[in-house]
Amino acid sequence: MLTILRKIVESVSSAESLTLAMQNLVMKTKEALGVDCCSVYIKDQTSNMLQLIATDGLDPKAVGTLTLGFDEGVVGLVARNLEMINLADASNNPNFKFIPGLGEELFHSFLGVPIVDQSILLGVLVIQQKTPRKFDEIDESFMVMLAAQLAGKFLEANLKKEMAMLGKSVSKTVSGLPVSKGLAQAQAFVLRPPLLLESIEIKKCEDPSIQYELFHQAMLQVQLELDRLMLKLNQSAGSPNSKIFEIYNMILNDRSFVDEIDQKIMGDSLYATAAVKLVCEKYINKFKEMEDPYFKDRAADVKDVAQRLLSKLAHSQVEFFDFSKPVILVADEVTASLLVEIPRTSLKGVISCKGSVNSHAAILARNMGVPAIMNIGESIDEFDDHYIVMDGTSGKIIIEPDNAIREEYKQLIETENNIREIAEKELYDSVVTLDNQKISVELNAGMNLDFETKGNFVDGVGLYRTEIPFMLQDNVLTEQEQINNYRNFLISFKDVPVCMRTLDIGGDKQLSYLKIHEANPALGWRGVRLMLDNRPLFMTQFKAMLKANIGLGNLKIMIPMISSSKEIEETRQMLDLAYNEVKEEMGLTDEQLRYPKFGAMIEVPSAVMLLEELSRTADFYSIGTNDLTQYILAVDRNNQKVAHCYDPYHPAVLRTLDYIFKECQRLDKPVSICGEMAGDYLGILILLAIGYRTFSMNLSSIARIKYLLRRIDVSKIKQIIDDAGLTNIEKIKTNLKNYISEQNLTRFYFE
Ligand code: PEP
Ligand code: MG
Repeated sequence: MLTILRKIVESVSSAESLTLAMQNLVMKTKEALGVDCCSVYIKDQTSNMLQLIATDGLDPKAVGTLTLGFDEGVVGLVARNLEMINLADASNNPNFKFIPGLGEELFHSFLGVPIVDQSILLGVLVIQQKTPRKFDEIDESFMVMLAAQLAGKFLEANLKKEMAMLGKSVSKTVSGLPVSKGLAQAQAFVLRPPLLLESIEIKKCEDPSIQYELFHQAMLQVQLELDRLMLKLNQSAGSPNSKIFEIYNMILNDRSFVDEIDQKIMGDSLYATAAVKLVCEKYINKFKEMEDPYFKDRAADVKDVAQRLLSKLAHSQVEFFDFSKPVILVADEVTASLLVEIPRTSLKGVISCKGSVNSHAAILARNMGVPAIMNIGESIDEFDDHYIVMDGTSGKIIIEPDNAIREEYKQLIETENNIREIAEKELYDSVVTLDNQKISVELNAGMNLDFETKGNFVDGVGLYRTEIPFMLQDNVLTEQEQINNYRNFLISFKDVPVCMRTLDIGGDKQLSYLKIHEANPALGWRGVRLMLDNRPLFMTQFKAMLKANIGLGNLKIMIPMISSSKEIEETRQMLDLAYNEVKEEMGLTDEQLRYPKFGAMIEVPSAVMLLEELSRTADFYSIGTNDLTQYILAVDRNNQKVAHCYDPYHPAVLRTLDYIFKECQRLDKPVSICGEMAGDYLGILILLAIGYRTFSMNLSSIARIKYLLRRIDVSKIKQIIDDAGLTNIEKIKTNLKNYISEQNLTRFYFE
């Protein structure tokens, strides 16, 4: 009996479709038990009804059309009680329900078992017999075992997927760290990292011509990449490394190498990745077997070429994906560069298995206004082929939601869009509060995205993160590339000041081509410290900024991570030097080459205590609340384990912000806020009450913050904060929320 059972389960598992699997199941079970009828019902997770999906014995026309409630018939009773029912004559049972045309009147005995997966009913399996008899214990245990196997094996693997495809969802809820607010629903686009040569599966493909095309595209891209690297190395005189790339080129241009891969794709219908693996491994082994150490070493070169090809082939997942439909990007680690590769119109949400609130991918997602959830503790395999709804405010993700949830999210997204549209109508208006306070709302930029340059909807650019273009490229930007970047940006915002921050590399902002390994990166070689140790890079950036500003004059320059007077003084001397060199080099007058306003970021506690000294050199300050919070509280802004301790509303942070504002007033220095707190609804209200009037924030926050500020009275906010003091933050939050509700604004900010 066990052998028969195993055979049935195997035939179900290996069937190509749900229909075939279920047909196999009923036929084989009927035959194995020598009964007159076997049927299987599946529970529709949306409607909570049982649907007949296969039968050998009842009228086949009922398949797909007959549905039963849990309160209908003996089958409904099995589902309701999650228990086996064995009846000698079902028609005598009070629960029996006669369904005309089904042909059930022929059968008397009935044995029904529930198919259950982790206490959740998936369906009911039934056998019936014409002669009235109670099924024996062997039949019972066979059916119980079969149902258990079905639930465990087949339903887990295939049925869930197929049910989902049929719109009958088996949903799963997971949660992660909410990093960018908003709701989204769409199909998952699961992006896998480049594969390692060793782990490639040898698989046949359906359309070799596409694989052929992909392989040749990858070849071309690797070739270009190597040419670029070779050029760079040649420029650094006498570099022996460029020889390596010549060898790589020889491999790529070797006709027999390319022909062999082509043959594996076109002749053997293999995937391009599989073909690359087989041919490269053959060459690697050949080289390894050679006596001559020089040739032995070439095995590593072939492997590197293979790995580069595989990485381009993985990348072509993005290039060749049809982005005409909306998607939610799912990846093990979503990076900033990955985000900008997906067309904005189709990118509805972002899910990253790893990541944190202040990682650059998270900041970019917020900037783009794309809901994002990170650190989800699930494998990306969970999302394959699935439809997803996600809530970037709570961090909840539902994989394969049922129709009711999809409809609910659809409505919520519509409401959210309406609210955004209402706020965006006032995007271009300036901000004056109900009590006539003029507020400057500025933009945090640096992603070089089209939407960042929409026009004059802000009073300035308070923070242009220059390191981001460096992070999105594979190498350091040349002076000319920087000039072009900065100039385009200065032109886009020509009527307002644009504050460019010099490179803030290090810490969590790593460049792929300048990896820094430190035990304590946040306290290590980052920002101005790193730049003062790389003066040619610093000088090039200063010069590029100054040249980009010629004839425009809206540039301001700001230095990140200042922690001592010496740093700001040395930096200013470098800017003086760069200014004089550019002036001389280009034969410009003071009028033609404007000396920009020069400022410091206040984001390290020591700088807070040095404001008086810094003010001898700095013209203005901008507060980076992200880092300031991290350093005041000694909480790594990227460490999930201590995320609950990272709190910009901590009384120590608020009192520091209060102190900075008062000091800047005393010293008569302009000060603004450019950390994430400025774009937060409650954060900005507290900052207003402290006295700040200039705020720089992500693009996605601007419309709603402007809408909010135009509808509040700063004196009332100040009253609320003064009443509570900068200590009782819970009281402040509650009272501010009440005030927002009195202003009829709750649905804009807190629903
Ligand atoms: C900050 O630290 O608040 C800030 C604006 O800079 P970044 O997030 O780029 O470190
Ligand atoms: Mg910072």
